[in-house]
Amino acid sequence: MAIKYSDRMQGIKASEIRELLKLTVRPEVISFAGGLPAPEVFPVEEMKKVSLKVLEEKGQQALQYSPTEGFPPLREKIAQRMSRVGIEVTANNILITNGSQQGLDFSGKIFLNPDDAVIVESPSYLGAINAFKAYQCKFIEVPTDDNGMLMDELEEALKNNKNAKMIYVIPDFQNPSGRTWSLERRKKLVELANKYDLPIIEDNPYGELRFEGERIPAIKSMDTEGRVVFLGTFSKTFSPGLRIGWVCASDEILNKYILVKQGADLQSNSMSQRELDAFLEIYDLDEHIEKIKKLYRGRRNLMFNTMKEFFPPEVKHTYPEGGLFTWVVLPKHINARELLKKALERNVAFVPGGAFFPNGGNENTMRINYSNMPEERIVEGIKILGEVIKEALNE
Ligand code: PMP
Repeated sequence: MAIKYSDRMQGIKASEIRELLKLTVRPEVISFAGGLPAPEVFPVEEMKKVSLKVLEEKGQQALQYSPTEGFPPLREKIAQRMSRVGIEVTANNILITNGSQQGLDFSGKIFLNPDDAVIVESPSYLGAINAFKAYQCKFIEVPTDDNGMLMDELEEALKNNKNAKMIYVIPDFQNPSGRTWSLERRKKLVELANKYDLPIIEDNPYGELRFEGERIPAIKSMDTEGRVVFLGTFSKTFSPGLRIGWVCASDEILNKYILVKQGADLQSNSMSQRELDAFLEIYDLDEHIEKIKKLYRGRRNLMFNTMKEFFPPEVKHTYPEGGLFTWVVLPKHINARELLKKALERNVAFVPGGAFFPNGGNENTMRINYSNMPEERIVEGIKILGEVIKEALNE
């Protein structure tokens, strides 16, 4: 058989890590690998009531096709929530998507031709890298520090790469690093995007999960020319299984997203949208988010205290003020892919950090999730990881 696949499929490959991480579904594995929310705080009881209410009151509509743009009352509520991060928009600037992952795929479809380049933080979100790769693009990685992308380096990259077509960033509690951009860097980013005339994709699933300190305004709130596309989601504040995210953009750009949404899947799930909308009507999402934050804050603190006790001092990690991940940097000669194999033998998993650098390298890094495992498993898993790291150091 010699079936001919499209050229774009050449860039889409199964990764060795994904294969290894398949093992983490075994219940005995303590997994710090996924980006999963804690299931204990899913509002299951509330959703039972809400689903019944939607079916009883609007059952026929909930099971029918609905507008591509999304359920109008839900778009309205999202537009209102956006104003909290300084984004003043109406429901007309919101498109409901099947998670923000769909917004990433659409961004690639809308802005990238083959051989165009995407400017990304180094490291960046693996799911976005994979989504963009399907459009046969190249990646320009810009170095980062604890305040976000380095702006001098970004300007250099913009000057030297005429094939750059969009800038993709995760400014709040970044996946994978847990870092948050400073206000100054956000302003400068918009200034540079204006100067070099590129769209910015601001991907923000974690901004509402700030455990301490003040929330920094969204990059979109500084958008003077309508070039910032904000991607939001209810996956981390409510439930990833419902698959509800959104794109917030200027009329002109949003219209492109609406057109590709029609071609991709016509609309997001009518029932989920109505259920979420009813939840937002009846219950207090902010109260729910407080519960999530309290749980994650405790797990993060516990993890950091355990790391302090059991990780060798030459291992460094970030101290995120929110979100789901910390980023661990090992001494240069330790390869985290090899370390994962050793850790898995002892039933502990994490994601080796090299995967988050689209152009390779940085194999001495790892991403560790603190939201999903219960407290006692966090302690046990970090202790084991500490031992595995110490063994690798002594090899
Ligand atoms: N962007 C980032 C940075 C993420 O971490 C994730 C989820 N892991 C997504 C987008 C996709 O989330 P969803 O499609 O569930 O909204």
